[in-house]
Amino acid sequence: MDRILLRRDAARARMAVENVDALLVVHPTNVGYLTGFTGDSSVLLAGRDRDLIVSDGRFTTQLEQECPGLEAVIRPAVESLNQAVARLVKGLGIRRLGFEPSHLSVADWDFLRSELTSTELVATDGLVETLRAVKDEAEVAAIREAVDFAQRAFTKLRAGLADGQTEKEVADRLEALLREFGATGSSFPPIVAVGRRAALPHARPTVETRIGDDDFVLIDWGATGRPYKSDLTRMIVTGKVTPEFEKVYRTVLTAQERAIAAIRPGAKAQDVDAEARSVIEQAGFGRFFDHGLGHGIGMDVHEGPRLRKESPTILEPGMVVTVEPGVYLPEWGGVRIEDDVLVTPDGCEVLSDLPKTLDAMRP
Ligand code: ZN
Ligand code: ZN
Repeated sequence: MDRILLRRDAARARMAVENVDALLVVHPTNVGYLTGFTGDSSVLLAGRDRDLIVSDGRFTTQLEQECPGLEAVIRPAVESLNQAVARLVKGLGIRRLGFEPSHLSVADWDFLRSELTSTELVATDGLVETLRAVKDEAEVAAIREAVDFAQRAFTKLRAGLADGQTEKEVADRLEALLREFGATGSSFPPIVAVGRRAALPHARPTVETRIGDDDFVLIDWGATGRPYKSDLTRMIVTGKVTPEFEKVYRTVLTAQERAIAAIRPGAKAQDVDAEARSVIEQAGFGRFFDHGLGHGIGMDVHEGPRLRKESPTILEPGMVVTVEPGVYLPEWGGVRIEDDVLVTPDGCEVLSDLPKTLDAMRP
């Protein structure tokens, strides 16, 4: 059976649990996940036995090509998307309509609530996101490809890295290389942070700071493929390895390795986070690691599940997560190492394989 249909069936099973007659999917990524549609300005009305994608005339041909077999309602130009949805919900006699509270705007919700006087609007938060957290084979293949684009781009970038290049020049070059190797682009604006700028976990590349201004550079980047994403971080030493850098680097690497070793079906996301955190705490850097250990990647670069303190998620085969511990010392810099990891039936597989030993990071 077609994998898109399987996804809609899985959504229907969740709708039954939520006791809704239909689900209004408005988040473009979720619409794409459930239909294969890559356009925008369209919503999916998924029912118990009938699914409709509500769109406009710009997408008629694209819908035929991308979503064969899916019933498309092309609204007339005089009708807004919300008006079309309200008309269809009334026509279908939907009594309980699930909606995405994290994505439907207050204005849209207000409109639907006032129009749909005989329909109850039921918040079904994260319904599609929960399905997206577990990838099928085709999705894993697409993530592998995005990892490959990112790794090849980085390897070529590193070979040409030279003192004097600005952070922004390096980031721009990396984006160009990602495209050259087959990506449609970056999965997010690359972070290229030299020395103390790496103390900012989300530093923006500058034109003032240059490779060689300090002994090391942090690069956090990823590729967008078809349309799945990758997300990696490596440190590159461009000067000398100071004892402090060595201590921080070895701590972060050990934390990452310990966390990866804890990833398996049935493991709690919070326990995987705790593995890494305890290594960093024991080294005395606990308060300098103040973000979660990792996040799911897929159609979005940040999605479920989250690896962090108090996360109730239990890992399942097919989940793909980043593992990215970091230590950030103000005025000194930061070290983060990030890989993409697939939960397999009997453990995990690290999808990225760029070298990361301290020796491999040396010039
Ligand atoms: Zn990253
Ligand atoms: Zn990340």
